Amino acid sequence: MRPSVGAVLHHDPHGRYPEALTVEDFRNKLAAVRARIDAACRRAGRDPADVRLLPVSKTKPEASVRMAYAAGCRMLGENKVQEAHRKWEATQDLGGLRWSIIGHLQTNKARMVARFADEFQALDSLRVAEALERRLQVEGRSLDVFVQVNTSGEASKYGLAPEDVPGFVRALPAFSALRVRGLMTLALFSSEAERVRQCFILLRTLRDRLRQSAPTGIGLDELSMGMSDDFEIAIEEGATVVRVGQALFGARPLPDSHYWPANPETEEPRS
Ligand SMILES: *Cc1c(COP(=O)(O)O)cnc(C)c1O
Repeated sequence: MRPSVGAVLHHDPHGRYPEALTVEDFRNKLAAVRARIDAACRRAGRDPADVRLLPVSKTKPEASVRMAYAAGCRMLGENKVQEAHRKWEATQDLGGLRWSIIGHLQTNKARMVARFADEFQALDSLRVAEALERRLQVEGRSLDVFVQVNTSGEASKYGLAPEDVPGFVRALPAFSALRVRGLMTLALFSSEAERVRQCFILLRTLRDRLRQSAPTGIGLDELSMGMSDDFEIAIEEGATVVRVGQALFGARPLPDSHYWPANPETEEPRS
């Protein structure tokens, strides 16, 4: 059943998400999250094969990365480029492990992303697109990208305002190394499920509208939305990628304000 209007989401990760300590443990958590994905798909009349689970390993040590790999994960999400790069370097012995950068990027780190990442989900400016394009051309690589949209209107969230997305997308065919896959968002952090749902509906509606007028070569099939606490709602509203950290790896030591700074303009995490 859909959560009814006014249903409450619990943002209490510390009580609910114990640390995964063994591969067996991680496998069980993976199975539990997949079961939640399947149930949400059933409610929405969707095929679970159309929803990709992206495990998010940020703040977790290399040992956790290895645990996820042993449990079968072949792509991991990281919010910060340097942390991702460090883990990528440390796990060169693991064949076929790919990395998705899901956090805001500063242009001076584009080079790092171009070198090792396979996916970038937080594209939100032409400056970053240009920097990535230049570096990818040098590396002879290409990158799957998602355009990040701020669907909550919160100043603390990165991403383009919804009304700026159509113009932005029209400019993207100029960047031949960027393979545009779709849109990404972070919903409002709220305990009110219906307000969270509105963010996901906004992203889907925007995607549907853009698809009708998208430039050739610009794929807008994907909707990356939903995290540990809200991915079921996101799936009900059409998510094709869910980014799940704590429900798999355990609660994080750092508060989320570290990732969603009080003032994004400074590009510095709030301490
Ligand atoms: C950390 C993070 C997630 C995962 O959040 P959880 O609450 O750990 O599931 C998803 N998306 C982004 C952009 C993140 O930084």
